[in-house]
Amino acid sequence: MSVICKALRKHKQHGKAMAALLLCVLLLLPCGCGGVQKYSVTFIDVFDTVTTFTAYAGSRGEFDALAERLHEQLLEDHRRFDVYREYPGMNNLCTLNHLAGSGEVQVDRVTMDLLAFSAALYGESGGRLNVALGAVLALWHQAREAAAEDPAGARAPEESLLREAAQHCRIQDLALDEEACTVRFLDPELKLDVGAVAKGFAQSRAMALLDGAGCTAWLLNMGGSVCCRGRKPDGTPWTIGLEDPLDKSGPMRSFPLTDASAVTSGVDQRYFLADGVRYHHIIDPETLYPGTRYTQVTVVLPDPALGDALSTALFLLDTEAGRALAEKYASEVLWMLPDGSQVKTDGFPALK
Ligand code: AMP
Ligand code: MG
Repeated sequence: MSVICKALRKHKQHGKAMAALLLCVLLLLPCGCGGVQKYSVTFIDVFDTVTTFTAYAGSRGEFDALAERLHEQLLEDHRRFDVYREYPGMNNLCTLNHLAGSGEVQVDRVTMDLLAFSAALYGESGGRLNVALGAVLALWHQAREAAAEDPAGARAPEESLLREAAQHCRIQDLALDEEACTVRFLDPELKLDVGAVAKGFAQSRAMALLDGAGCTAWLLNMGGSVCCRGRKPDGTPWTIGLEDPLDKSGPMRSFPLTDASAVTSGVDQRYFLADGVRYHHIIDPETLYPGTRYTQVTVVLPDPALGDALSTALFLLDTEAGRALAEKYASEVLWMLPDGSQVKTDGFPALK
């Protein structure tokens, strides 16, 4: 086993300086299957989560070269879709939030594609998935940050502030010129938040890169959102672990996955507690409060971009509407309910 640590950039996010360390851990596991070996690398500087890329390759050099290309692309997408920080030489989501309220802003094709995709999913989800909900989500973000600083004083945002912010969340005010690649906010107070879709969109692009490179057996795990190709050399599928969102120390369930993605949205991510209530990060645009129907939703389908968008949308839809949406996109879904019961579509992989 060899361990390579590179690192380091100062990374300012959410108003706080934090050191971001890029940690690359290369694991060589002898396998003796058709001359390929299993290699793995972990990045902790993209999409605010831990990303692990595992692949079977003919040599470490081959794997390293591929992992480097993958890492570069993920970093580029991370910067493109960052709503908190701008970077030299690009107009990213943060630039849009600063400038698009006062005039057209030029973006690149990838950013335009993400926004057009997100706007389309707004309609498909009956308005539940709304990337223009940024003004409301910012209030929840501030409440979460304040709760982290002072857990005893934690509280939900004032309802009157939420209602006021909700006046500036109309997706119709996001004006996209897809040909010219320009964006303009018709409401100067509109703010974008692409947290529900950006990671899956980047994962989908990563999938295209890896396919284009001819890599046939790999798994990319971005903080629990997973996509994979092929099988392990012994013919077995990849295994995906699923934590109980309310009991992280409990037994993990798992299911097999081949040539697909599995994306999860849950109450265990980005939450704070106030007066015994768990305020998590998936906000129902109708109530302006965290969705209460489920504790976790997992979507299995070929494309992780769609998986990410659907997992958030399905978290907020009732199961009847959710089933119709899942069927439309040939996806399989597992809904975990607050009482511990579960609902699944017929084709969801068997859980162990
Ligand atoms: P996910 O983990 O993919 O379900 O995405 C959750 C993230 O999406 C949150 O942290 C917010 O940044 C954002 N978000 C929360 N609620 C919504 C919503 N109703 N529509 C769009 N984005 C949302
Ligand atoms: Mg999502």
